[in-house]
Amino acid sequence: MDKEEAARAAHKARTQKHKEVVDAKIAAAQTDKGLLLVLTGNGKGKSSSAFGMVARMLGYGRRVAIFQFIKGAENVGERAFFSALPGVIWEKCGEGFTWETQSRERDIAAARAGWEKAKAALQDPDIALVVLDELTYLVTYRYLELEEIMPVLEARPPMQHVVITGRSAHKTLVDAADTVSAIADVKHAFRDGVRAQEGIDR
Ligand code: ATP
Ligand code: MG
Repeated sequence: MDKEEAARAAHKARTQKHKEVVDAKIAAAQTDKGLLLVLTGNGKGKSSSAFGMVARMLGYGRRVAIFQFIKGAENVGERAFFSALPGVIWEKCGEGFTWETQSRERDIAAARAGWEKAKAALQDPDIALVVLDELTYLVTYRYLELEEIMPVLEARPPMQHVVITGRSAHKTLVDAADTVSAIADVKHAFRDGVRAQEGIDR
């Protein structure tokens, strides 16, 4: 065997071993369940990832419910697209960050009204995916207590998936989640003076 042939054989043995390990892991993962996902961190990509899963789920003809807490008039692109589709419940449950609305009472009222609607979706087994967009801020600002949120998440239909987005996810949410991604803010064009671009940022 020349040197090149030996290298090829070694590579084949390595990749074969790797494939065996991966295949065994795939074979071992046999459980189906409704997942709780938390998408947090300071980087861009939390809400847009959630909407990617909304698109996936709709591709299977399943129903989805999206609750947009906190945010006001922005996020117009996704709302325009998804809210018009059959099988989509879309609720805007806020008017903006508290420094925009300048009224804590109004923010709390909007958050609570949104949560009441979300609770109904979290009891409906026909809804395959519930997105609680920017829910983490409700916890951070104490608009809603974890004692109110956690039992509802835990009691949801067993096959229903839930995605929670927002920065600084509380440890209780992270601990309860099955999948957690913390998106790092490596760079953002906003810091170079670029305003939110249609189709990318909103
Ligand atoms: P997206 O909706 O684009 O996935 P996100 O949900 O991760 O963003 P949010 O904190 O909800 O982030 O903010 C939404 C808006 O703020 C978007 O226009 C996004 O581009 C912008 N944004 C997100 N992260 C940053 C950042 N680190 N610096 C500046 N702007 C940001
Ligand atoms: Mg977001």
